[in-house]
Amino acid sequence: MKKPLEKPVRYLKGIGPKRARLFNSLGIESIEDLLYYFPYRYEDRTNFLLIKDLSEGSLSTLKAKVFSVRERVSLRRRNFKIIEAVVGDNSGKILCVWFNQPYLKNYFKPGEEVILYGKAQHYAGKMQINSPEFELIDSRDSDSLNIGRIVPVYSLPKGMTQRVFRSTVREALDGSLPKLKDFLPFDIRSRSAQINLAKALANIHFPDTLEGQKQAYERLSFDEFFIFQLPLALRKANKSGKPGIAHKTDGKLTDGFICSLPFEFTASQKRVIAEIKTDMSRPVPMQRLLQGDVGSGKTVVATLAAMIAAQGGYQTAFMVPTEILANQHYEKISSQLTAYSSKVKQVRIGLLTSSLSKEEKDKIYQEIESGKTDLIIGTHALLEGKIQFKNLGLVVIDEQHKFGVGQRALLPRKGFNPDVLIMTATPIPRTLAITLYGDLDISVINELPPGRKPVKTICFDTENVGEAYGLAKEQLGLGYQAYIIYPVIEESYALDIAGAKKRYEELKKYEFKDFRVGLIHGRLKQSGQDDLMRKFRDKELDILVATTILEVGIDIPNATCMIIEHAERFGLAGLHQLRGRVGRGSADSFCLLLADAETEEARRRLKAMERFSDGFRIAEEDLKIRGPGEFFGRRQHGLTELKIGNPLSQMQLLKRAREEALRMVESDPGLRQEGNLPLREKLLQRFPEYERLMVVG
Ligand code: ADP
Ligand code: MG
Repeated sequence: MKKPLEKPVRYLKGIGPKRARLFNSLGIESIEDLLYYFPYRYEDRTNFLLIKDLSEGSLSTLKAKVFSVRERVSLRRRNFKIIEAVVGDNSGKILCVWFNQPYLKNYFKPGEEVILYGKAQHYAGKMQINSPEFELIDSRDSDSLNIGRIVPVYSLPKGMTQRVFRSTVREALDGSLPKLKDFLPFDIRSRSAQINLAKALANIHFPDTLEGQKQAYERLSFDEFFIFQLPLALRKANKSGKPGIAHKTDGKLTDGFICSLPFEFTASQKRVIAEIKTDMSRPVPMQRLLQGDVGSGKTVVATLAAMIAAQGGYQTAFMVPTEILANQHYEKISSQLTAYSSKVKQVRIGLLTSSLSKEEKDKIYQEIESGKTDLIIGTHALLEGKIQFKNLGLVVIDEQHKFGVGQRALLPRKGFNPDVLIMTATPIPRTLAITLYGDLDISVINELPPGRKPVKTICFDTENVGEAYGLAKEQLGLGYQAYIIYPVIEESYALDIAGAKKRYEELKKYEFKDFRVGLIHGRLKQSGQDDLMRKFRDKELDILVATTILEVGIDIPNATCMIIEHAERFGLAGLHQLRGRVGRGSADSFCLLLADAETEEARRRLKAMERFSDGFRIAEEDLKIRGPGEFFGRRQHGLTELKIGNPLSQMQLLKRAREEALRMVESDPGLRQEGNLPLREKLLQRFPEYERLMVVG
């Protein structure tokens, strides 16, 4: 027998196969799905605004009678039908206009009453409402769902009316709420002052007051956050329950390394190093996320951690997303170690990428296995099954967002619970980071090494491209180098954007014919890419035309100018990452954004780039402008699982949910206590894979 909530919606009154399909198209299969399909807004239909009191530009709800309806053809576009209806109440009349919805002509009949929701605006001296949402009042059913109360409005497909949807929800609520068990344990509810589930579901759909709606919103958001945090808490508990390596964090090798560096660590770096040392010295595996803006000095911190491991005879695996980066890290760290040349211990470093020959690879595998290599830097080639470490003690993963969660988990398995340090240059506001990486501890480097100047960022309209090129030429004239970035390799007529390849040919021939120009993109062979990067670094090229392959980690201080064409096609985080490629030295540097910013959103994004240089600040802006779903990419983090909770506006609630999840996992890790069984069931229904993490406590 199915539980009441699991029954398909077609068991509800008035739902035949056709309507059932409409519900299905919204992702609603069961009664539970229906109850969790929340309104996107509410209308207070206890009091309607009078037409005479309408104010321009604000959204209002009216109740009015239809006086006349007519259809006319657009003066400019022949096939474009416009429906105009004059409606009125006791205080006056107003014109409502709908575009290209000819079927509305027969929908509104004079004499009928209608509820309208929209923005009044002045046109030719008169107020009118363009494209208001509407709902006919059906005088035959004197119902209490659609009028005289706060009414929910749902996002619905064509063919499904608000009225039908509301009455179906009402029926589902009436039928299931009396039997509904609250899965959230009572003590959690009372500690966080949450109303019970039945009341919350009733009030999210049909609130009696706005306050009631707010309580329901709080409770249902809390549930989402809590269910989202619980697996993270379980994962965290599960990991920290394992025995790890207690590294010896201080010693001659690390001291000598720090002394050999040509700079002093920043205060942030020192703090983060202390956090890492504490973790590494404990006999539990470190699970730490290190966030820091591009160029803030994460790599050298990771190198120090590798020295800590090496000091005790442990190996480090350092995984980066691209070969270019692997090479760069290898060279940088090698030169640091050469400069150091410790007498205590010769630290040996290796490089593993997929473009090596089989013989070369086999040799490196052998060195890893015998323990000859202390620090191996590589791409995902490190995940190769054949690779066995002698004594893997530390895993560093750079630019973690470029790896899947699965790949991230693979590398540590090559050792016996090694410490793990994950690094990211995508700054995420702290509370949000906790939601996404609740199973990790978080360290932040929030300052740049001294002497760095912010990159001057200027936006140009596409037509002023000449000005931008002029600025670039000035820099080139001073002996500096420049990047010119395009969003795509091949031009696209469909999108009307220029591609790197074609523009490269043109730039080389015309605008920059006096300079040495190179082109790098992801479709080039690895050896070709490396060759180009080497040439650019050795100043054999002045200009590098590129796609976003340049995004992560490239460090060439002499490059002081970056032009990003079609900048409107990049997200803020992406632009910021790209910009991080310049301003790596002590000279003034420039980021010139060329864009046709047609939408308000695009303009806001570009403005934010001009105004802010701090990655965290930019991330916050990006989040505000695009929302968490877009910011993190669609499926990536399960953030889209949140239907109602908003981690940005409900940070406090999110924190509470996290605390409760940690407390729960501590007191009952298997969720097997009587009062927690419904929660266990709920969790497994959502995340079946967590069965194995729920150790019997
Ligand atoms: P990230 O990995 O965070 O992008 P890096 O570790 O590559 O940053 O550091 C960028 C550059 O700054 C490197 O050349 C590095 O040697 C240098 N650097 C790192 N820390 C400092 C510091 N405290 N003072 C001066 N320069 C530093
Ligand atoms: Mg880096």
